[in-house]
Amino acid sequence: MSEIPEPEEFRAEARRWLAGTAETRDARQDWGSGDDSVAVFENWTEPEERAHTERIRDWERTRYDRGWGALDWPPEYGGRELPSYYEQLYRAEEAAFDVPRRTEVFPVTQQLVAPAIRIWGTDEQKARWLRPMLRTDELACQLFSETEAGSDLAAVRTRAVREGDGWLLRGHKVWTSGARVATWGVAVCRTDPDVPKHAGITVFLVRMDAPGVTVRPIRQMTGGYSFNEVYLDDVFVPDADRLGPVGQGWRVTLTVLAAERLDSGGLGLDNADRALQLARRLPRPLTGGERQQAADLFVRALVQRLIGLRVTAAVAAGREPGAEASVGKLHATATMRATTDLVQQLLGPRLAADTGEWGTFAWTEHLLGAPGYRIAGGSDEIQRTILAERVLGLPKEPKEPKGAGS
Ligand SMILES: Cc1cc2nc3c(=O)[nH]c(=O)nc-3n(C[C@H](O)[C@H](O)[C@H](O)COP(=O)(O)OP(=O)(O)OC[C@H]3O[C@@H](n4cnc5c(N)ncnc54)[C@H](O)[C@@H]3O)c2cc1C
Repeated sequence: MSEIPEPEEFRAEARRWLAGTAETRDARQDWGSGDDSVAVFENWTEPEERAHTERIRDWERTRYDRGWGALDWPPEYGGRELPSYYEQLYRAEEAAFDVPRRTEVFPVTQQLVAPAIRIWGTDEQKARWLRPMLRTDELACQLFSETEAGSDLAAVRTRAVREGDGWLLRGHKVWTSGARVATWGVAVCRTDPDVPKHAGITVFLVRMDAPGVTVRPIRQMTGGYSFNEVYLDDVFVPDADRLGPVGQGWRVTLTVLAAERLDSGGLGLDNADRALQLARRLPRPLTGGERQQAADLFVRALVQRLIGLRVTAAVAAGREPGAEASVGKLHATATMRATTDLVQQLLGPRLAADTGEWGTFAWTEHLLGAPGYRIAGGSDEIQRTILAERVLGLPKEPKEPKGAGS
């Protein structure tokens, strides 16, 4: 392993590289001009989603090819084997530059699916999938949730049945972010309906262009289509694309879910900062109530960043950050709600009707998108249950009787 630079040295090096490769955000975007989007989920048509995905991909490939991607991965996967919190140090520097904003499918591929393949994949699978995913040549979406298996994900009913040297998958997944642009879908399937539900699950990587895969976009209240229904109609998946042992899929799934919580602590901070800027630049004095709300949001955002540091510290110390990550996710959705409340107060009618004024009506995208994160990646209630049980030591939720299949 090459020598690890000091964090400050690393950040300065990252800043130098970024300055030579991208424009700074401030130089491009003065307050009152340029892009005023605060979208939580983008309102793109399919061609727009594909075009934007290509722009992000170009940037991610540049990073990877110049040694700024896959930072905590070993050199054989194009990384530098740095401690994993160096990725966060890098991201903090990158935030000051005008680079394309990653849509969900990118962190899902790089931070959720690739690490799960590293843990659960065979050598052949690692050689085949990891570099293309880390470089984002191939993207992966999560085919986890179903209409009756969300919070209770182990209740999945999509069946995978052996067929020759592979499996036939049949079922219906829902809320799949990025399914239109993903190369692979990580499908949580039931391979044995006769054992307790957590024991009868197996995970497969399904090519999203395989015969029998149908993607139907779902329109959200934001007006956009960032997630989809996915139908699997007797889709053949070679056994070589099974991730982890047969019947051990729940453990594979938990690896992905833990990474998802870890990745969500920074949610909403950009928009909180933007709402505070709005408060500072409002062409009238703030009322006492508005000042109070702005101060509250400022403190919340600060606390969220501190929670992020705790998670980083846990990772740096080699600990699994378990409950800290749930605190982070829960706090992030509360920050998003506080941002909504402040902006509603500050803008009033200018939020309800589009006057064409910069940075006003655009906030509807935040208002309508933010509630989605109280559900995505484990709902607020589920995070509270985790905290109640693992931090406060309260009695566990009653379990279903043994033998209850899906
Ligand atoms: C924006 C967005 C993107 C998403 N992207 C993906 C994706 O890419 N791939 C994917 O597979 N899924 C995705 N999902 C689905 C997401 O994981 C599920 O919506 C989530 O797990 C909740 O499941 P559910 O919708 O079935 O709600 P349910 O589980 O039916 O829950 C309904 C309500 O009941 C509450 N509830 C449920 N169980 C309990 C309990 N034990 N105690 C207390 N309250 C409870 C929940 O908190 C919720 O309020 C996405 C969802 C959203 C909103």
